[in-house]
Amino acid sequence: PAMLGILGGGQLGRMFVTAAKRMGYRVTVLDPDANAPAADFADVHLCAPFNDAAALQTLAASCAAVTTEFENVNADAMRALAKTTRVSPSGDCVAIAQDRIAEKSWINKAGLPTAPYLAIESVADIQVELAPYLPGILKTARLGYDGKGQVRVKTADEARAAYADLGGQACVLEKMLDLKLEVSAIVTRVSAAQVAVFPVSENIHKNGILDESIVPARISPTLAAQAQDYAVKLAEALDYIGVLAVEFFVLADDSLVVNEIAPRPHNSGHYTIDACVTDQYQQQVRAMCGLLPGRTELLSPVVMVNLLGDVWREDGGEPLWDVLMEAPNAHLHLYGKKEARAGRKMGHFTVLAANVDDALDQARALKDTL
Ligand code: ATP
Ligand code: MG
Ligand code: MG
Repeated sequence: PAMLGILGGGQLGRMFVTAAKRMGYRVTVLDPDANAPAADFADVHLCAPFNDAAALQTLAASCAAVTTEFENVNADAMRALAKTTRVSPSGDCVAIAQDRIAEKSWINKAGLPTAPYLAIESVADIQVELAPYLPGILKTARLGYDGKGQVRVKTADEARAAYADLGGQACVLEKMLDLKLEVSAIVTRVSAAQVAVFPVSENIHKNGILDESIVPARISPTLAAQAQDYAVKLAEALDYIGVLAVEFFVLADDSLVVNEIAPRPHNSGHYTIDACVTDQYQQQVRAMCGLLPGRTELLSPVVMVNLLGDVWREDGGEPLWDVLMEAPNAHLHLYGKKEARAGRKMGHFTVLAANVDDALDQARALKDTL
């Protein structure tokens, strides 16, 4: 069987490996962490830095196709790999998703709305009238996730001070919007003609980290269709190949604003494993191999709950899973991480029910017992 390669061996990599193996592929994972969650299941674990020339050479020579599970992979390494093997998404697309300034300008170029924002590449850029972006959030252009690298500011002085505190690195100042809810749409694009979008997920965050995903999202079918359409338009504009996640804000007037994109399967798409005809990891395998995307229909309303290290016991012991095991419509997924820390994503569970309200009630009751 063909060998597939993945840069990164976190939980997304682990679920990718599981899908690929089930589909008959062998998998090589590149990750410097000897305990990487994906390494347990991989055929080959290249335990080396992401820019290790020999490891990248091995990937290029042994893999029929290579993908990534995290956006902060070296885009140049991906471009170099693309000279000898299939790489999806492309290094160019990944580079755009790594930089909020490039990302937002591409979103606008695709004809889609973002929050009003100011790109700040140097201190001169922030010496302008800031009122259109206030109150706002100053976000580092690079390397932010789970709400890290973000400062909420009310005044121009606060914004300038926060920019200085962040060390003068490139940032965006984004207007704080009044969010009714947040949703995401995950699209798989194999070619211009072969595109499939998953049902839209409603996402509830806690402390800047995804807490729950509810599918179908509790929005009108028209709005859900619009989110899916926007995700496809963005994939088209980027000439994107692979799985692309698009996060949206829903405003009070039911308009949609694109928040950000992730060039990979997404936490808000974990639900697809238990609740869709094809899951987002299988879609990534299909896309990277140039196969047709699978169907994306929802088989059942579903709620996904993230399990952070916070629910582990003080001594690091696992919570008691009995209640989850006793719930016939719940599915537990653990990522095999050795050390539980507050805020660290350790696993998730899903609850399938006849409607989202029941699924949500049951999911929250289960979570409360952990
Ligand atoms: P992720 O882990 O999803 O990559 P991130 O660190 O890149 O997160 P964002 O998605 O930019 O961060 O923001 C995190 C959360 O902060 C959003 O999901 C939303 O709840 C809130 N937020 C971000 N920008 C705005 C905004 N302009 N107006 C209101 N709320 C916002
Ligand atoms: Mg992000
Ligand atoms: Mg986000």
